[in-house]
Amino acid sequence: MKKIILASSNKGKVREIKEFCQDFEVVAFSEVMPKFEIIEDGNTFKENAIIKAKAIYEKLNPEDKQNSIVLADDSGISVPALGNIPGIYSARFAGEDASDKDNLYKLINELKVNNLKITSAYYTACMAIVSKNGESTVHGWMYGNVIDETRGNNGFGYDPMFIPLNYEKTLGELDEKIKAQFSHRVRALHLVKLLLKVY
Ligand code: IMP
Repeated sequence: MKKIILASSNKGKVREIKEFCQDFEVVAFSEVMPKFEIIEDGNTFKENAIIKAKAIYEKLNPEDKQNSIVLADDSGISVPALGNIPGIYSARFAGEDASDKDNLYKLINELKVNNLKITSAYYTACMAIVSKNGESTVHGWMYGNVIDETRGNNGFGYDPMFIPLNYEKTLGELDEKIKAQFSHRVRALHLVKLLLKVY
């Protein structure tokens, strides 16, 4: 069985990726090495995903370098009516050490000050895989609307304010199994699985 080392310690992401990749051994990088800070100074989701995957791959022991694949996810939410913010800054929208809740309420506040009760938005996930065979990236998107309040506690991050297209409830209210049918991350992971067949 191929071992996938996730270049993330975001609990929500790790949970969703492990759930999707049950036919692989999936471990968070913090399980195979001490945690360290990675400076994500790219200008796109793709650049940041590659930065993360390479940083972890470089620190693997020789056996893991030979036998495993590093998978990094860089993701976020964009609101076109607000100039596509927060985009690649989703994780640090309310500041460098901001929590998911701080970021969520900052985006709600941005909607309120712009008198937007509901407006279209989309999530992007870029996944980079790095192994001894080189590097590749794939993307996935999920479209919908954001509202100027939170509803429900499921999911993580901006989910309590995001209503997917063709639904009336937020991802905070919907069962996580529903999100897992069409999320940006799951769409990207379908492509990762295809790539892994040739890796
Ligand atoms: P990253 O870990 O640097 O990729 O940052 C991802 C940011 O986007 C975090 O703030 C997450 O909360 C947010 N984000 C990414 N995917 C999702 C999702 O599926 N639901 C809610 N928030 C997400």
